[in-house]
Amino acid sequence: MDVARYFKLGVLAGVRAVGGFAIARWLSSHQLRILCYHGGCIGDERLYNPRLFCTAAHVRSRLAWLTRKSFTPMALADAVSGLRKGRISERLPVVVTIDDGWFSSRRDVIEPCLSSGYPVALYVATQVAKHRTPVLDVTVNYILWRVGRNRVDISGLPALTSGSYDLADAETRQHVHDAVIGWLRGLAQQPAEISAALEQFATAIGLAPDALDLQSRRFDYLDTEELRAIALQGCAIELHGHEHRYPVGQPARLRADILACREFLTSIGLPKPLHYCYPSGEFDDHAESVFEELGIASGTTCLPGLVNPKSPGSLGYLPRFLDSESVTDLEFEAEMSGFLEFVRYLAKRGAAKAPG
Ligand SMILES: [Zn+2]
Repeated sequence: MDVARYFKLGVLAGVRAVGGFAIARWLSSHQLRILCYHGGCIGDERLYNPRLFCTAAHVRSRLAWLTRKSFTPMALADAVSGLRKGRISERLPVVVTIDDGWFSSRRDVIEPCLSSGYPVALYVATQVAKHRTPVLDVTVNYILWRVGRNRVDISGLPALTSGSYDLADAETRQHVHDAVIGWLRGLAQQPAEISAALEQFATAIGLAPDALDLQSRRFDYLDTEELRAIALQGCAIELHGHEHRYPVGQPARLRADILACREFLTSIGLPKPLHYCYPSGEFDDHAESVFEELGIASGTTCLPGLVNPKSPGSLGYLPRFLDSESVTDLEFEAEMSGFLEFVRYLAKRGAAKAPG
């Protein structure tokens, strides 16, 4: 852990010890919190990418803390409707959202939330869900992570010239990654063909298919039947774009992408989705007019913050806190209590007052 973070955690521990978090919760009790999770964890994915994958135990411990501190679970649609009216009567309202649509999210995030009384909105990136293939870049990066920064001999792979590759060298590693991704994207996006190619790459650089374990579906999204099943369990299925990429500065493309995402979800029998989440948190000023045209009620970003129902700002750019296994209990409590929002407010005021 770096010194700055160590120092920050020390300060937060002190603030919590003297009741600062409890005061922050009291002062911000009617402000909305929106939480975000991604995938669950079937094998060792949380060690590979703790920001993307987390265990059910992690989610359950967060929910238990929220319940202990009397937070009120809210559905995204109800919270947005409250913001529109300028009033949320619930105390310490919290909305849980989940991005992407990972297969592992169902067991490790969605079901623990629903069984604890927390409604969930799942923002689905529909291209991967439609093709039913593992997520290419995440799986390739996982394979490279498992192999480590070693020298490997690669042969018999269409993507790369046979020879020795030093994966400790950042440029070589990137070259291997890009070449393999290019090769995979050039294949027909059929699940069996993509899985076979990923296993071929893994084997070629020294990772056995059993260790990659694609059969567990840990790098897949939920399929259409599973999406319908979780919708019946009470999970709201919402928009995360079709291509899972925000087209900065291209409103026509954004419109087409949202329409393609919506079309897929309604074509599999789900209710018309009304809420959008920016892929990778990227956005621009064009989103609002596209949302208005398409009847999109809200957009969530990856910028942390609380929403004051009396002055919510644009509902097209709602702040959201990305929780993950790399967030400590202290940081989570500081954010959800509203203490870090208070610190950001002071920092903004300080910056505004600073002579420039
Ligand atoms: Zn995403």
